[in-house]
Amino acid sequence: MESKFNDLKTRLAEAHDLDKLGWVLNWDQRTMMPPKGAAVRAEQKATLKKLWLEKWTSPEVGKLLDDLRPYEESLPYDSDEASLIRYARREREKLLRVPADLEAEMTRAAAIATEAWIEARKQSDFAIFLPHLQKTVDLKHKYVECFDEPDHVYDILLDDFEPGMKTAEVRAVFDDLKRDLIPLIAAVNAQVDTVSDACLRGHFPAERQRMFCLSVIERFGFRHESWRLDPTVHPFASNSCTTDIRITTKYVEDFLSPALFGSMHECGHGLYENGVSPALERTPLCRGVSLGLHESQSRMWENLVGRSRPFWKFFYPKLQAAFPEQFSAVDAETFYRAVNKVHPSLIRIEADEATYNLHIILRFELEQEIMEGKVALRDLPEVWNARMKSYLGVDVPRDADGVLQDIHWSSGYLGYFSTYSLGNIISCQIWEKALAAMPDLYEQFERGEFMALREWLRENLHRHGRKFTPKETLQKVVGGGITLGPYIRYLKSKAREMYGV
Ligand code: ZN
Repeated sequence: MESKFNDLKTRLAEAHDLDKLGWVLNWDQRTMMPPKGAAVRAEQKATLKKLWLEKWTSPEVGKLLDDLRPYEESLPYDSDEASLIRYARREREKLLRVPADLEAEMTRAAAIATEAWIEARKQSDFAIFLPHLQKTVDLKHKYVECFDEPDHVYDILLDDFEPGMKTAEVRAVFDDLKRDLIPLIAAVNAQVDTVSDACLRGHFPAERQRMFCLSVIERFGFRHESWRLDPTVHPFASNSCTTDIRITTKYVEDFLSPALFGSMHECGHGLYENGVSPALERTPLCRGVSLGLHESQSRMWENLVGRSRPFWKFFYPKLQAAFPEQFSAVDAETFYRAVNKVHPSLIRIEADEATYNLHIILRFELEQEIMEGKVALRDLPEVWNARMKSYLGVDVPRDADGVLQDIHWSSGYLGYFSTYSLGNIISCQIWEKALAAMPDLYEQFERGEFMALREWLRENLHRHGRKFTPKETLQKVVGGGITLGPYIRYLKSKAREMYGV
């Protein structure tokens, strides 16, 4: 049996190598590659993906998985071996469901739709994007038909990003969140002028921003022998193995926030990948378990750590030293309030940590209505604008700043958005556990010490990689499923502190 297991492990290691090479090519494309490499690069990535799929769906892997069933059953559930077999069986079963020609059609349609979306956004003309969105939705229905009948048509789409999560569960959590958040944000909005973020705007030379960002994330666990930080247009985190972590950021010279909080955010993603057990290296288990759990890590370092008072007690004098022209006359309290300003706005990626969720809930609801056929695609701009008004109280002046602002739908990523808010919610659940385990955590931050938090996260979450399902993993960290309480408590206490509401 062991030789069969080793055979399986070798085949999956080769598939994993191909997957990780694709990630490196993608990193290269978005940080280094000259633009004219794009057309051939798309072919190169498609070739890797095809080889990866062939490895996974080969009859040999199927036979090995069948033969290894008794071996799996003889092992403890949480052993690396049983977990790998279990994961591989689920993954392969899912991959086999979708015919290769449908997969190829979706990839092709996404490439064309993305081009159309870029043009539509440029001209702020939804009509240019409409036929491509229709095609995307039609293909999604075909995709859904590849699987057994779900409770809700949207379950299948959600499962690609948050495996095992049901639409009804997310809806229940989001309905509660919405009920608390809409009045809270309306109350904050009435006081919005009491907090100003003017000090974050000015002149911040990119190189000095880079040095400061590095000085922060080095304390979080960024190590030059196994990490890189590079500039890019749309920041992301990537890696080829646990000791090769590539994070990116965007330096905006007249606004400090994007690089400062963005690099902490991407560092949080990097720490998760960096913290997976080395024993899982070169297996498909060597990766954060879901987008929601991943986002819980990035948001934790960005918001719960990076926007906290103890963090800035340590770092603000250093920031003042790095940008004396900008901050020598700004006191710590003014700065702290600036980085925690809540302000309803049009654009999701520019939203603060509280209003962000309403941008997500709006998209989550619309995606379901689209898949259920409850909203006609041609009416989307109107529906979008009406809901922005009722949730955030803002008027949408043009579709480029409304329904056309995100790339996700053109890329075929229906079902993705909710994981951002799930990450926010989960981050606070994990945070309460970490604080209970380390009551002096904030005192440590005041001294610039973050390693105890990082080690706790590694021990309780990161090291598991994909050994367990996302639900099992969350259960291990917080002792239960998704609950809203910790996040609402956090948002309300911040709002009270900042705005007295
Ligand atoms: Zn993220």
